[in-house]
Amino acid sequence: MRANPVTRWLIARRIRQHRIGDALWRRIVDDSDLFDGLDAAARARVRTMAARFIAEKKFFGARGFCIDDTVRAAIAAQACRLVVNLGFDSLDACRTVIVYEEGFVAQREVEDEDGIVHTGHEELAGEAAQGGAVVLAWDDAIPRRNEPAYFPTNVVIHEFAHKLDELSGHLNGLPPLPDGMSDGRWPKTFSAAYAELCDMVERDLEPPIDDYAASDPAEFFAVAVETFFTGPDILADGFPQVYALLTELFREDPLDARRPATGTGDS
Ligand SMILES: [Zn+2]
Repeated sequence: MRANPVTRWLIARRIRQHRIGDALWRRIVDDSDLFDGLDAAARARVRTMAARFIAEKKFFGARGFCIDDTVRAAIAAQACRLVVNLGFDSLDACRTVIVYEEGFVAQREVEDEDGIVHTGHEELAGEAAQGGAVVLAWDDAIPRRNEPAYFPTNVVIHEFAHKLDELSGHLNGLPPLPDGMSDGRWPKTFSAAYAELCDMVERDLEPPIDDYAASDPAEFFAVAVETFFTGPDILADGFPQVYALLTELFREDPLDARRPATGTGDS
């Protein structure tokens, strides 16, 4: 639905007021591999959406962490990169971003095979509970380039993939799908891939993507999306049908964009 003229005027004003400065924008784009395959028009869209993100989402620093322009812009730019072809409304499930300076400890309850619940603590780089804020550790969320030796990761993409998933009303790895994708291919393909990964993990075989994806279907989706944007060749090799569905969902093919002849944008 198209916003009315007053709303559009207000949004345009917010974007002007919170525009990311040239030097900071260039630093974010240069420091992260997320933007490599985007052309100039797509990068400009991300920059505009990020300004709106900074204007409309609330940022809080946890444990005294100081939220400055760099923190706001870097998180906003990476979150908006995820949905650059879907539109700003795709971030509607996130209203608040809480940022710790570094990894934070969360209490966890785990039920064992005998039904006994164990309480423990886990250090996290990010968290996105249903209906809650996106929580990030800044030292993991800083724009950066992935080392080839490891599974590529991006905690901002991962947590905002959960928020995209949540738009359907459930955190279950089934986000709202565009017209033409509601034909049953998504649940069938994702369930089969998730079962395959769980089976590999159970049999101690080397998984094609980070085995954290075997935690549950929502984590499978978030890790698949993270890998789609940060190491598309890995996902395309490991789970080609999942990769193909994500190209439809996100309306882009990161593998294509990484081929040398394209990706000419430099704004
Ligand atoms: Zn997750």
